Amino acid sequence: MAKINKGFLNLKENYLFIEIGRKVREYVEANPDKPIIRMGIGDVTQPLAPCVVEAMQKAAAEMGVKETFKGYEDSGRGYDFLRSAVAGYYKSFGVDVETDEIFISDGAKSDSGNITDIFGEDNIVMVSDPAYPVYVDSNIMNNKQVIFADATEQTGFAPVVPSGVKTDLIYLCSPNNPTGAVFTKEQLTDWVNYALENKAVIIYDAAYEAFISDDSPRSIFAVEGARRCAIEICSLSKTAGFTGTRCGYTVVPKELEFYDDKGAVYSVLKIWARRQGSKFNGVPYVIQRGAEAVFSPDGLKQTKEAIDYYMENARIMSETFSELNISYTGGKNSPYIWFKCNMPSWDFFDMLLSGKQVVGTPGVGFGKNGDGWFRLTAFNTRENTIEAMKRVRELLAK
Ligand code: PLP
Repeated sequence: MAKINKGFLNLKENYLFIEIGRKVREYVEANPDKPIIRMGIGDVTQPLAPCVVEAMQKAAAEMGVKETFKGYEDSGRGYDFLRSAVAGYYKSFGVDVETDEIFISDGAKSDSGNITDIFGEDNIVMVSDPAYPVYVDSNIMNNKQVIFADATEQTGFAPVVPSGVKTDLIYLCSPNNPTGAVFTKEQLTDWVNYALENKAVIIYDAAYEAFISDDSPRSIFAVEGARRCAIEICSLSKTAGFTGTRCGYTVVPKELEFYDDKGAVYSVLKIWARRQGSKFNGVPYVIQRGAEAVFSPDGLKQTKEAIDYYMENARIMSETFSELNISYTGGKNSPYIWFKCNMPSWDFFDMLLSGKQVVGTPGVGFGKNGDGWFRLTAFNTRENTIEAMKRVRELLAK
């Protein structure tokens, strides 16, 4: 008799985006003449950079020629040309990462879920509340106990190091989805020290690092000691518009270790490589060539233009909430605005949709501390962002 992995029975219904979709569909059916502005889902709207498209076209042409055709990639960890480009990118903001510590992935979602495979069921996993839902779901699926670190208005929506609580795995995300909060070097150092004291491993999701424009850390490896306690997961989805193209990278330092019941020590990098060798056959060559182009001088310039475009949207949004005197985080160093809606998040969702035809994401969908808060993204077009802010002002101006 086939037995289910009981972890799947412990998952909560994926209520959030299904419920949003249902409500929006019903509204549109009932009000076909009222145009909706979607500021809910974190998908991008700007196209791939020209030099990325060119690199992909060239690579696609190579695939059609016998001499340059590529089949399986040997290691499945990514071609050397892309891993070198990623290492060079890290170097550009002062972080040293070796090419054989870099694993090219099909995105940050896969790896932030998959990484939990190599950690035993007896690990206690700490996730901030609110958080990107993948961290909780993938650990529940793998039968691990999940505990929460509160991130609240009082802490600027950055989770703070708990006192007297022990944990083995810690998920951190900065710039944060959904709250837009960004760790300072001091805050991140506290987490690194806590992880080192507890022999815990931090899974650091830096999917939005490219949106940082001040001296906040772009990588956890900018913090002393992090190479002994952290894995970093990155993505080209928001950095370079790869949400549909799919490419990211994960950095596992050579120094990082974990243990068995008897205290024997293992290399995390070796075990992750073993896991990937069995379960992953790599990212398409054409996509990796496109990703390589992102890190070229032209690519960095062209992708920065899209980031600047989104950040100008974020500025317009921040300005609106500042003028309305509404508390918010994000908008600076982050494409998300997380604001206080002063009522249950779902009630505000309904009010904004039916009153002003703007769709956002109720904060409670990311954790209990998100109730009374609401997320809007800066990924829409300029025109829609300006129109949405006009409608928000009409709704919320006193
Ligand atoms: N991590 C965070 C914090 C995200 O917000 C997202 C996407 O919204 C992802 C990871 C997923 O990234 P990818 O498209 O690379 O899978």
